[in-house]
Amino acid sequence: MVVVALVAKGLRPVISGSMRPALLDPLFAPVSTLSGVGPKNARLFDRLLGRPDGARVIDLLFHLPSSVIDRRARPKIREAVPGAVATLNVRVTEHRAPAPGRKGPLRVLAEDETGDVELVFFLANFEWVRKSLPIGARRWVSGRLELWDGHLQMVHPDRVMNDEEVARMAAVEPVYGLTDGLFLRTVQKATQGALAKLPKLPEWASGSSLTFAAALTDAHAPKDPAGVEPTSPARRRLAADELLAGQLALALLRGQMRSTAGRSLVAPGRRAEAVLSGLPYRLTGAQTRSVAEIRADLEAPERMVRLLQGDVGAGKTVVALLAIAHAVEAGGQAALMAPTEILARQHFAHMAPLGAGLRFELITGRDTTAQRRDKLARLAAGEIDVAVGTHALFQESVVFRDLALAVVDEQHRFGVHQRLALAGKGDAADLLVMTATPIPRSLALTHFGDMDVSLLDEKPPGRTPIDTRAVSLERLDEVVAAIARAVASGARAYWVCPLVEESEESDLAAAEERAAALRAVFGAGVGIVHGRMKGVEKDAAMERFQRGETSVLVATTVIEVGVDVPEATIMVIEHAERFGLAQLHQLRGRVGRGAGLSTCLMLYRPPLGAAGRARLEILRESEDGFRIAEEDLKLRGEGDVLGARQSGLPGYHLADIEAHQDLLEEARRQARAALERDPRLEAPEHQALRTLLWLFEREQAVRLLEAG
Ligand code: ADP
Ligand code: MG
Repeated sequence: MVVVALVAKGLRPVISGSMRPALLDPLFAPVSTLSGVGPKNARLFDRLLGRPDGARVIDLLFHLPSSVIDRRARPKIREAVPGAVATLNVRVTEHRAPAPGRKGPLRVLAEDETGDVELVFFLANFEWVRKSLPIGARRWVSGRLELWDGHLQMVHPDRVMNDEEVARMAAVEPVYGLTDGLFLRTVQKATQGALAKLPKLPEWASGSSLTFAAALTDAHAPKDPAGVEPTSPARRRLAADELLAGQLALALLRGQMRSTAGRSLVAPGRRAEAVLSGLPYRLTGAQTRSVAEIRADLEAPERMVRLLQGDVGAGKTVVALLAIAHAVEAGGQAALMAPTEILARQHFAHMAPLGAGLRFELITGRDTTAQRRDKLARLAAGEIDVAVGTHALFQESVVFRDLALAVVDEQHRFGVHQRLALAGKGDAADLLVMTATPIPRSLALTHFGDMDVSLLDEKPPGRTPIDTRAVSLERLDEVVAAIARAVASGARAYWVCPLVEESEESDLAAAEERAAALRAVFGAGVGIVHGRMKGVEKDAAMERFQRGETSVLVATTVIEVGVDVPEATIMVIEHAERFGLAQLHQLRGRVGRGAGLSTCLMLYRPPLGAAGRARLEILRESEDGFRIAEEDLKLRGEGDVLGARQSGLPGYHLADIEAHQDLLEEARRQARAALERDPRLEAPEHQALRTLLWLFEREQAVRLLEAG
């Protein structure tokens, strides 16, 4: 990766030469190495396992059953429960075929001493049924029972067996998530083949009664429905292993960052005071506390690796600015990296005037060659105190005279390595990462490891709650009329158009169509921003809205997390049902920034499904980003809380962030303990941990070890 090359002074270069232990090779072979998996099924497995580039044996092994078919019940017919799966011992009494020339099922009548049951087969050819269920024979049949017209029946029994076969039957069968065209039996068989390839692995979790291999085998052979619960011993062992690998990797990265001794950035704090006295408001308690925590880190000789976490509108920007002021006063330079051009510009525009004499410069991919050359020269000469920019900042040509503090905004759009790459441009630069999405603690731990956290859990005062409503798109005309009235009395509104994941073009078409329709009502006061516009055009559109030259801004979701136009008080989200909770919360966070009453209208296309209704309901009820994030986690699973499009975050397959909370804490403790005693995992008893890192593909961390 590009980034790898950029890991400069602070981190040692990453060597790609270290090799995965050969004993793991069979697990990383393509699924087609399993017997019974031909090219056609292999492609289906690629799809099922989310590996378009080729599913591997390990991916299949980590695809755990989602439920079971429990065939253990062997009732007499009279006690059999309709709706349940049962295994019955019956005697066949009659074959009832449809009348000649008629279509219809073959009904096999069967009985035991307590009652009778019909086995129903919809088949083109009944020969197989007649042979395997001949009249007079005793057989075992297993399948789901139902009541039809007062009769107990079993449509297409899953199994028809004799005494010998029933003894060998898997009484509890694992059921897997499937994809179109792939059969459960195929997945079950392939998984059995994959389990047979499990090598004998060194034990990394001494004190566990189950080995990793045994746990994986058990997890695929649940003995009862509890066997697929996250609380089952097998699942807990697997989750613990995965979490340990994740925590080890994060701790290694952090250790690596800190191994280059940090520096003390000591300053009397005059610059920060100057910034403070220029503010039109007073800091909240949470801001004051965070500033103090950061300042203590900056002054301490260790390297700072801190996460500043706060809901939208919590006021992170000024906290970052105060940190920057401190670092600069101590004699260093600072960098602020934002995920998009618009945000970088906005930070620059907000910070520079408040900066009390700090020399800011904006460095983005949009500079002309001459501008860029000039800026880079001044940066290298130390004539710029603070470089604000996008990822253009961590390109190789960007050299600081003395980078002391790297601030990364809206962090989850960046991967771990990008963060490190920026920090790596300084000699032991301190790192402050800001995240706008409130992340539940459990997630923060899995994704950021043991970074220190400053929490802005208090919003600036004077904000009125946002009047949030869900409105059917059928009432669009009323909505437009209401906005027209508000705009006439001076309001400004965002109008966000639906996100259609697959196609940027249709996003655009929808937005342009909406803008045209609104222009018909509002005239020239309607602006538009979308992802396809050139950067300068985007800025111009944003600026016109900021200055109030346009009063309605139609946008695809490019209206960035973080955009700050306090005068805007109306947010319309079209097709709100297509957005995730966290996204809706972020979008709503664009309004309610001033003292006036703000409104958020979530337009939905009826009928709204249960999940969609639940999402909009939560938003109506709460403005607490943390609560919303927790609910989001419950409704959607962890990946989406951080936004679907991010990359570079470690993926978890086996651990369930909620159910395995305790294991996460334990993994963190274990990882720290191991590295404290043996920071490079060289001791013989730690070799197994290296294998663990490879097994869960945290090899980047292993490579850091090899490189050191
Ligand atoms: P975010 O945490 O989303 O980045 P910002 O830093 O953009 O939030 O701040 C949101 C708004 O709140 C800005 O307009 C900012 O000027 C204002 N603000 C920040 N801190 C305070 C405060 N302590 N009192 C009043 N307003 C504040
Ligand atoms: Mg912000």
